[in-house]
Amino acid sequence: MKRTILILVGLGVICTIGIPVDGYQDTPLKPNGYHVHDEFEPRPTVITPGKTDDMPPSDAIVLFDGSNMDQWEHINPKRKADWQVADGLLASVDKAGYIQTKQKFGSMQFHIEWSTPSEVKGSSQGRGNSGVFLMGTYEIQVLDSYNNDTYPDGQASAVYGQKKPDVNASRGPGQWQSYDIIFHRPIFKAEGSNEVVKPGTVTVLHNGVLVQDHWVIEGVTNHKQLAKYRYHPDAMPIQLQDHGNPVHFRNIWVRPLPD
Ligand code: MG
Repeated sequence: MKRTILILVGLGVICTIGIPVDGYQDTPLKPNGYHVHDEFEPRPTVITPGKTDDMPPSDAIVLFDGSNMDQWEHINPKRKADWQVADGLLASVDKAGYIQTKQKFGSMQFHIEWSTPSEVKGSSQGRGNSGVFLMGTYEIQVLDSYNNDTYPDGQASAVYGQKKPDVNASRGPGQWQSYDIIFHRPIFKAEGSNEVVKPGTVTVLHNGVLVQDHWVIEGVTNHKQLAKYRYHPDAMPIQLQDHGNPVHFRNIWVRPLPD
């Protein structure tokens, strides 16, 4: 045991002072400036994954762990965020309005779990409607899309008004569903300019199934109109929608990503 620790400490010292441990310097250069199999290419940061694949890893910012809404506020600074927290769940409340994170985010990996009412009421867009608004601007639709027909670019996991999911991976009403979203924010030409030099992109896994594969976002989420980009800052809150239907949420976390 003692010997193992000594060897590990020794290896650590060798790594930090830059003595080659394993790899090559006589191989071609890659576009990132390091050689193929370069011994000096920086090692990835070590993090601890969640106990299960849905739980936040050690470098995630936890936005809701079941206990409180401390990370959230109403989108209207004059109003209170009066969604409900009970039994470890966050629930939208009819007419309470949208809520948003107090922190602002740009590109990110985002995880959320949601459940539409087990008592089925309404149809089409009126059944279990909520939504995740990335940067408060780009909606990934939340809807009960289990045996509930609606326009495809408005069903669950659609980029609302732009792109239907590749498949309908919905679970039934009252069951827990998950989104894992990888989002890269748009890059605008200049501050205040609506022109993008790089549009946003979004990848969505719905219940572990790929439904949006690096979709190039066309602009701000809109109703009955083609999407167009409108300038916004590099970081914005994540919003959750109150669409009049009680939808429950749990286990919400985010990992900011480089642009
Ligand atoms: Mg919605």
